[in-house]
Amino acid sequence: MIRLVLFGRQGAGKGTQASMLSEHYKAPHISTGDMLREAVAEGTAVGTRVRAILDAGELVPDETMLEVIKDRLDHDDVQQHGFLLDGFPRTVGQAKSLLKITVVDLAVDLDVPEGLVLDRISSRRVCQQGHIYTVGDHAAQSGVCPVDGTPVVQRDDDTPDAVTARLDAYKVKTAVAMAYFDSQGLLLTVDGVGDPETVFHRLVSAIDERLDNDARW
Ligand SMILES: [Zn+2]
Repeated sequence: MIRLVLFGRQGAGKGTQASMLSEHYKAPHISTGDMLREAVAEGTAVGTRVRAILDAGELVPDETMLEVIKDRLDHDDVQQHGFLLDGFPRTVGQAKSLLKITVVDLAVDLDVPEGLVLDRISSRRVCQQGHIYTVGDHAAQSGVCPVDGTPVVQRDDDTPDAVTARLDAYKVKTAVAMAYFDSQGLLLTVDGVGDPETVFHRLVSAIDERLDNDARW
């Protein structure tokens, strides 16, 4: 059983690593987006409230998000195997609240320099069906997806200005949340630069080493 919180700038490859880690440790990857969708689909009491909030185009408040997480943590898969929590907490207040409802073994920061993720994201192009290309790819240059023929474009979210704004917000709020985990002795920073396999092995050995040491003490 392993209980991890995952941090990483957008574009750091967190989603890819989360699914590899989830398979490796048999712990469910719990992302906030999925959790909210599940709560709405299951029609739980809190799910009904979430639906109203989302329908109104508002942000889900912390207390509501915590209820959703609490419900999710009660599921059997989490009870048996732990979790990889992705997308929460984003603020120090959320971090403190989370530690009141569950034990966290480690908060892992997948560290990729800002300039690198900015390049990665702003060179991304997508078709209407979600196939992802890079600006130099033939599909991006021709502007047509070879799989489905839909236009390949840069999303508004992926322009350098939009990405920089999100990275700034991350720096301001999430860095403080990470500092909080650090103050609790729970932060593990892992170099996220490299191909996905390399980064994955780096992550697993850093996590295992740290948890082994903690168990010994
Ligand atoms: Zn496509």
